[in-house]
Amino acid sequence: MIARPLHVAWMRRALEVATSHAASAGPSSHPASAGPSSEPASAGPSPQLASAGPSSHPGDVPVGAIVLGPDGVELAAAGNEREALGDPTAHAEILALRRAAAVLGTRRLEGCTLVVTLEPCTMCAGALVLARVSTLVFGAWEPKTGAVGSLWDVVRDRRLNHRPEVYSGVLADECATLMREFFRLP
Ligand SMILES: [Zn+2]
Repeated sequence: MIARPLHVAWMRRALEVATSHAASAGPSSHPASAGPSSEPASAGPSPQLASAGPSSHPGDVPVGAIVLGPDGVELAAAGNEREALGDPTAHAEILALRRAAAVLGTRRLEGCTLVVTLEPCTMCAGALVLARVSTLVFGAWEPKTGAVGSLWDVVRDRRLNHRPEVYSGVLADECATLMREFFRLP
């Protein structure tokens, strides 16, 4: 589907999360401080300048995710923290979904939107189907592990009883550049 301007704005925020891990600082990053009233996130340093966020583990691949409520207000944000937490499931999407569910007090995230800088893997695609996220917006394609069209298409598998609306390739170049720089690819 064709991305809307709002999706681009959300992706810029997810890119900031990916590069700064500012929102992954734990419980202190309460959603109240990440609401629309706190605009500094959108005026922060560019992803390139913030690529070595102080709270991030240098080995963590820079992927960022945010979850928006049905009203478009940010509920949660997370960076990839597999190395930082020593947790194989600590992908940005999983952490953001958990935090959003905690904020809403329910495991069902109907009406919510997950925005992530990289095409989700099988684990995360499965999780967002289980969470009943209504809309998925992602940035760069991940041909090696992607499960939203690259290797598999978990979120649009008609054998499952929930299929989110998908907007792919939003700010794909910027998101892919972040990955290339991390892996020092040309
Ligand atoms: Zn994943």
